This record gives sequence, C-alpha cells and structure tokens, in this order.
Amino acid sequence: MARTVYIVEQDCQGCGLCEDICPEVFRLNEQTEVAEVFKPAGGPEDLIQQAVDSCPAECIYWEEE
Ligand code: SF4
Repeated sequence: MARTVYIVEQDCQGCGLCEDICPEVFRLNEQTEVAEVFKPAGGPEDLIQQAVDSCPAECIYWEEE
C-alpha cells in the first residue's frame, strides 16, 4: 500500500530539519517560512520516516492511501 506524507502547516515551526533530512520530498517555502511537501514520493521511506520522527513540532504525518 502506498503511503504519502503531509504537513500540518499551521503547526510547522519552520526549522528546516525535514528539508535537511530529505530535501527530495520536503522544502521550506521562503515566503511563508513553513515547510511543504512538494514531492510526496520523491524520497526513500526511511528518510521520510526520519523526518517524521525528528520534526520538533510533530506535524508531519503519514496518510495511507
Ligand atoms: S521539521 Fe517539522 S517544524 Fe521543522 S520545518 Fe519540517 S515540518 Fe516544520
């Protein structure tokens, strides 16, 4: 089953950690200063999981499809 990630942007602190861990999937929007998922399937799942686990705001979630 495919899984995708999403970010609850209002909870994001804009720390950039997710982008540091997996820049293929996450990036910080320079205008809003919150992270966004621009390519949900762009990176390996273990790196995405690492971003989920490392996010200080705990605002990155998996969504089962
Ligand atoms: S790690 Fe979490 S708080 Fe930090 S930029 Fe990414 S989504 Fe936002």
